[in-house]
Amino acid sequence: MNIPGFTGEAIVPGAAGYEQARRVWNGVIDRHPAVITRCHSAADIAAAVGYARDHDLPIAVRGGGHGVAGSAVCESGLVVDCSPMRAVQVDPGTHTIRAAAGCLWADVDRAGQQFGLAVPGGIVSHTGIAGLTLGGGIGWLMRKHGLTADNLLAAELVTADGERLRCGAGEHEALLWALRGGGGNFGIVTAFEFRAHRVGPTVLAGPVIWPLDAAPRVLRFYRRWIREAPDELTTIVKLARAPALPAIPRLHGRPVVIISCCYAGPVAAGARVLRPLRAVGAPLLDLIAPRPYLENQTLNDPTVPHGWYYYWKSAETGELSDDLIGALTEHTRRITSPRSYTLIFQLGGAVAEVGENATAYSHRHAAHNININAVWLPGDPDAERHIDWARGLFTAIVPHQRGVYVNFLSDEGPERVRAAYGPEKFARLQAVKGAYDPQNVFALNQNIPPPPAEIQLQPMHE
Ligand SMILES: Cc1cc2nc3c(=O)[nH]c(=O)nc-3n(C[C@H](O)[C@H](O)[C@H](O)COP(=O)(O)OP(=O)(O)OC[C@H]3O[C@@H](n4cnc5c(N)ncnc54)[C@H](O)[C@@H]3O)c2cc1C
Repeated sequence: MNIPGFTGEAIVPGAAGYEQARRVWNGVIDRHPAVITRCHSAADIAAAVGYARDHDLPIAVRGGGHGVAGSAVCESGLVVDCSPMRAVQVDPGTHTIRAAAGCLWADVDRAGQQFGLAVPGGIVSHTGIAGLTLGGGIGWLMRKHGLTADNLLAAELVTADGERLRCGAGEHEALLWALRGGGGNFGIVTAFEFRAHRVGPTVLAGPVIWPLDAAPRVLRFYRRWIREAPDELTTIVKLARAPALPAIPRLHGRPVVIISCCYAGPVAAGARVLRPLRAVGAPLLDLIAPRPYLENQTLNDPTVPHGWYYYWKSAETGELSDDLIGALTEHTRRITSPRSYTLIFQLGGAVAEVGENATAYSHRHAAHNININAVWLPGDPDAERHIDWARGLFTAIVPHQRGVYVNFLSDEGPERVRAAYGPEKFARLQAVKGAYDPQNVFALNQNIPPPPAEIQLQPMHE
């Protein structure tokens, strides 16, 4: 295949590597693109976009391939695969990190820690930086240092008409606003420039595990305790059967509630903050310990490998009410797959300190983000039961829902994408879309279509 100006690999059906190249993290996704363009530069990306437009091919954009909806790959279209672009440059003088669009968090974490720096990222190191940043980015450092998107200083893009531009302070600021949560709607980002922070090399981090029967008591305590928690502390609750990890050999398969912690400050101060949590009830296991920041960034990696089958439902909520705790505990008792689980992210802190309209990322005052993950192995005949379990728990938490995080959405239709932003912000995002991609060339995503008629970009009030 001849793509003018393209120097990467164009992989077509039947070619060596096609089967592997069309696979994404979620094994459920089984799409057959007409061509996968493995891009090595912004020029390659521009050439691939031009070719797709000339041949009327829909365009899917791939960063790390972790989007649960699988929008990084398409049926019969062209995939702009950024995964070969993995360069990271750290500037220890200015505390900034520039990372190419195909980087995974492991790349940025490792490069940053060589200088004692970190960019707030996600909690699984094999996730792509591109999709995660563009949707917002929640993780262990967010309560102290903000979302990933809050630390996005600038980005370089290829636009729908193949132009290259940079947005940042003083240049295309409305576009930067939209990239901080609005997803992949506005162009293909070729490089991200982040603010980095002094973190580690050691953090006090790890999980405490109780039997599921203790969940109501532990979570009621947790509700009170986190009200006063310092921003250095971020916690994530997990309700599941204990995963098959070597670190917890005696507990495999047992229904448990796990509270994982990361204290991004002095270890001694963290020990004081965490003491009351560790003393609640009778934990089965307490694995909180001083550990390298880099190790904490990879602790969850083995529980969510590539190629398993995943189905997600999620919602942002207020405080964990007794009702919510009851529903979460009850549904976890009835979990159908030993690999399924629910995560409850603790938000607040620096996330809530940024103005609601300062970025596209929304619902900054939600207390929690609950992500229900049905997980099963290829060939499992009970797939529908596992999906029904996730839907059943989601239905139970809907009355508590305040919004939804775009990066945890499956293929759930336009109303859920609107719900991720609310009507006023969605309209603003549509106006930016109209300015940068009026023909919706980048439509295979959590789509924000251009506005029906010309709408002027208006500044939003803080
Ligand atoms: C195991 C796992 C753990 C996760 N943990 C977290 C977490 O801790 N915190 C969190 O906030 N989220 C988390 N997520 C959700 C994650 O943010 C999204 O799945 C995100 O889309 C992943 O980015 P990616 O580049 O790997 O995705 P991809 O599937 O490659 O891309 C998803 C979409 O992002 C857009 N996109 C990708 N690359 C570009 C680009 N270069 N330019 C423009 N648009 C682009 C496209 O629209 C694409 O369809 C997790 C997901 C998984 C599967």
